[in-house]
Amino acid sequence: MTVADVVVVGAGQAGIGVAAALREQGFAGRVTVVGREEHAPYERPPLSKSYLGATPVDERHLGLRAGGWYADRGIVLRLGEEVREIDRTAAVVVLGSGDRLPYDHLVLATGTRARTLPIEGGDLDGVVVLRGLDDARLLRRHLDRARTVLAVGAGFIGLEVAAAAHQRGVRPVVLDVASRVMERAVTSTTSRFFADAHRAQGTDLRLRTGVGALRGRHGLVTSAVTTDGAEIQADLVVVAVGVVPDTALARAAGLRTDDGVVVDAHLRTSDPAISAVGDCARFPEPVSGRSARLESVQAATDHARCVAARLAGRPEPYAAVPWFWTHQGPLKLQIAGLGGDLDREVVRGDPAQGRFSVFGFRDGRLATVESVGRPADHVAARRLLAAGAGPTPDQAADPAVDLKALAAVAP
Ligand SMILES: Cc1cc2nc3c(=O)[nH]c(=O)nc-3n(C[C@H](O)[C@H](O)[C@H](O)COP(=O)(O)OP(=O)(O)OC[C@H]3O[C@@H](n4cnc5c(N)ncnc54)[C@H](O)[C@@H]3O)c2cc1C
Repeated sequence: MTVADVVVVGAGQAGIGVAAALREQGFAGRVTVVGREEHAPYERPPLSKSYLGATPVDERHLGLRAGGWYADRGIVLRLGEEVREIDRTAAVVVLGSGDRLPYDHLVLATGTRARTLPIEGGDLDGVVVLRGLDDARLLRRHLDRARTVLAVGAGFIGLEVAAAAHQRGVRPVVLDVASRVMERAVTSTTSRFFADAHRAQGTDLRLRTGVGALRGRHGLVTSAVTTDGAEIQADLVVVAVGVVPDTALARAAGLRTDDGVVVDAHLRTSDPAISAVGDCARFPEPVSGRSARLESVQAATDHARCVAARLAGRPEPYAAVPWFWTHQGPLKLQIAGLGGDLDREVVRGDPAQGRFSVFGFRDGRLATVESVGRPADHVAARRLLAAGAGPTPDQAADPAVDLKALAAVAP
């Protein structure tokens, strides 16, 4: 069937990416993007970094595209509207307003929602999550008057917020039940480096510690009681304990879901007239060969390009190498590939100097590279991972081996 009418649910990085890529691919049909938030589509990464720091980036600079860009390309944006239902038999989506939008192809780009803490005091004023611009505005207002911020969760968001708070002169405390920071995402070498760096700049980092309850006065949070019975004074608590994929629409429509909307190598859901992209999609990740759901700008934009190419008549299976970055104050980490279950780790460079890469191998093959202060390693790693071309652990360990040269001759 010829696709003339594409409806995208979600006006975030992936949803807007689909609309943009469709036009770049020469798709001439109708493109409608429905977004629940009132704001013009914006970038999320700065919300936990430059937007919170000592000299915050202006909101006008967060926009994914300039104002007239959508109209210039004939992309219809329906903001402040929610898709409530997918009627697959009639091939229409039903909006909260009752409007029905027909589609030839539907793209789900519904993203994720922040997890909350189901504990006593979890609903006090001053207890916030950070997913969207409204959350970031609220967090910034609280930061303006806070003396101590407690980040619950030592993942990317918790540590980024702690670094930004420190830049503002607000004392950060970070708690995590895990035994090391960013435990699910990085190797122990990188964890240790970041934990030491945060502690050195004054963050009170407590690992293997959870929050049992939050206490407040006049409805405003004042302290947290940890699972080991300590009380931490804090007038702002950022709950950064991960996200859940927004699969409600897909599930209600009878599509296959499993911690994400399940898609095939072409990012099609169990209904071939519906695709899923970005944070909400669980897809066969080509480099690791695993089923993955990634929360990254790279995955959102590369998914978008893959789906758009298919709808424009040029289908190719998804083939991009995963990569990710985090900025925590002056510290920058770039990651290529996927970690977890590594059987060998090789460090190149020197963590003590703040310039190193960790090469992680799985079954003797390069699986992930984490780089701090070595951007050239990151670029070479992406190339090498895409080509499935080494280096071997011995080559990675040998500073005389030129990775750039190795990447240049990769097939
Ligand atoms: C604070 C923060 C910092 C981050 N930092 C980084 C970083 O440094 N590097 C990096 O690579 N990634 C980072 N990320 C992750 C990155 O922003 C996400 O991977 C990316 O935004 C995913 O895009 P998406 O379009 O899939 O989802 P989202 O950006 O979440 O967009 C989904 C949109 O769909 C809307 N929606 C959902 N359901 C409906 C419905 N039924 N009807 C209408 N609209 C609906 C939602 O309201 C939302 O606006 C960060 C994320 C956050 C929150």
